[in-house]
Amino acid sequence: MSAAAADRLETDVLIVGGGFAGLACAIRLARASEGKLSVLLLEKASRIGGHLLSGAVLRPRALDRLLTPEERGALPLGPVVVADHFHALLPGFSLRLPFVPPKMRMKGLPMLDVGAVARALAEIAAGLGVEIVTSQTADTLLWDGDRVAGVASDGDEIGAACTVLAEGPAGLLAAELLKRNPALRGPNLQTYAVGVKEVLEVPADPDKTGRVLHTFGWPLPWSLYGGGFLYRTAPDRIALGLAVALDSTDPGFDPHELFRRWKTHPLIRRETAGGKPVAYGARLIPEGGWFSRTAPAAPGVRIVGDAAGLVDAMELKGLHLAIESGIDAADGILRDRGLPVPANALPPGDGIPSLDGLRRTKNYRAAFRGGLPVGMGMAGLAWITRGLLPPGRIAQRDERHCLRPAKAAPPAPRPESGPLDLGIDSDLYLANLSYRDGTPSHISIPDPSPCRDCIARYGAPCTRFCPAAVYERAPDGAPADAPPIRIRHENCLQCRTCTLKCPSDAIRWTTPVHGNGPDFRGL
Ligand SMILES: Cc1cc2nc3c(=O)[nH]c(=O)nc-3n(C[C@H](O)[C@H](O)[C@H](O)COP(=O)(O)OP(=O)(O)OC[C@H]3O[C@@H](n4cnc5c(N)ncnc54)[C@H](O)[C@@H]3O)c2cc1C
Ligand code: SF4
Ligand code: SF4
Repeated sequence: MSAAAADRLETDVLIVGGGFAGLACAIRLARASEGKLSVLLLEKASRIGGHLLSGAVLRPRALDRLLTPEERGALPLGPVVVADHFHALLPGFSLRLPFVPPKMRMKGLPMLDVGAVARALAEIAAGLGVEIVTSQTADTLLWDGDRVAGVASDGDEIGAACTVLAEGPAGLLAAELLKRNPALRGPNLQTYAVGVKEVLEVPADPDKTGRVLHTFGWPLPWSLYGGGFLYRTAPDRIALGLAVALDSTDPGFDPHELFRRWKTHPLIRRETAGGKPVAYGARLIPEGGWFSRTAPAAPGVRIVGDAAGLVDAMELKGLHLAIESGIDAADGILRDRGLPVPANALPPGDGIPSLDGLRRTKNYRAAFRGGLPVGMGMAGLAWITRGLLPPGRIAQRDERHCLRPAKAAPPAPRPESGPLDLGIDSDLYLANLSYRDGTPSHISIPDPSPCRDCIARYGAPCTRFCPAAVYERAPDGAPADAPPIRIRHENCLQCRTCTLKCPSDAIRWTTPVHGNGPDFRGL
């Protein structure tokens, strides 16, 4: 990296985001270019992994193309899955399916703490010469005509021959790029789920290590796409979470409360008995699939991982696609610059082999618009016919504009707190939130006039869909000119649900600076 002017730095490749996609791209570039390219990676968290949250079970094949056998062997991967079960939940009881759908079979795959593995990848990248800067947020794109020319970050300009957007789901820079160049969007709207997750410390039971359990059904209505997962990642650790789709039509949609209710099911209670939550977080999952993914590149820029919509919703997996797309972007950059690509590079256009899984299930997520039974039927059909049926393209529901007025669907009653569930404030404590004193709020509602109508029509959905209780109704008796919604930005988990689900698009959200936000541990 060179300083061309006091406040403008230059680098060959600038990578925004230190998740699996950004780190894979950085490692591939640095190793292949043998120091001929300067590679700078910016990460907004105060440490690599601090803003990462996943399940997680990994399809690890892509790591073999990225790492040497020694590096691969030294990665802190967890135990492999020894048994996986799939349960339908009904109020008070559950049915274990006699088979696990092919895409959900995980036996033999490693579990992992994504933060720990990302830190190991970052060490490899740094060892190869990548400059990694944490607590550094890319704020906006720099443009040279229609070409992306780098980013602005904390008042500085960072110019780059190529900028790689690896910001994860619903990133602000990707949104800026797509707004300026809508042709980069897929033909379908992108659609998201929010995943709410905890890690529990439980009484040690080595025999249960490596067990995986997935659920569908209760407490989600059949019209709402989503499901739960519970992974025994160590003898005394359970990772559990619930992913729920943002295209819920219910203004009472409350992912945190749904998660609390899910944890009260006898099946989940049995698995988690004696446990104590030690970590909490939430994050989006782009679920649209094949028809919602973005183009991989535009002049001066490449889009990788979740930023490009590369998640296989049928199996709830995107880590392998993040790695593959990071490698593919790196190989493309090397080719563009006339540098030799590694011997195991795949031809342009075929560089992300796992995209075939998305193609095979191209209408999978959209088919759930018709409810759970229709969606499951379509999913089976798609898998058997290798994606030929259902034919054509089913459109996704517009998750921002699909709410029904509140009267039609009153919010569900809130469950009592219990030993495994101490309520949202205790959960937030486990997200290790830190917003530096004096930094302005990254969330605002510049024009609250739509809020009054929204409160009357939908009962202020933001006070429920945010899994961190950031939004609060002004108390009864507040002055008429007081803002109708109060914002506790210091609770924010940076999941970005609010930027997608506010029906009036009234919420303005800028990416927090200085490493502010959660510091997820073991999520
Ligand atoms: C609940 C849940 C369960 C999941 N389970 C699995 C699973 O079991 N297996 C699987 O394979 N996948 C799973 N996934 C999906 C998987 O986690 C993602 O597909 C994957 O993490 C995407 O990686 P990424 O590098 O594209 O994005 P991310 O992991 O989101 O990384 C993006 C990084 O960019 C940083 N960033 C964002 N904006 C900026 C900015 N402006 N400036 C600087 N830095 C920025 C963020 O802080 C973050 O560190 C799951 C996801 C969730 C939410
Ligand atoms: S911020 Fe959005 S969701 Fe919340 S009350 Fe205002 S318009 Fe409604
Ligand atoms: S304020 Fe928005 S980004 Fe922050 S936790 Fe709530 S929904 Fe997520």
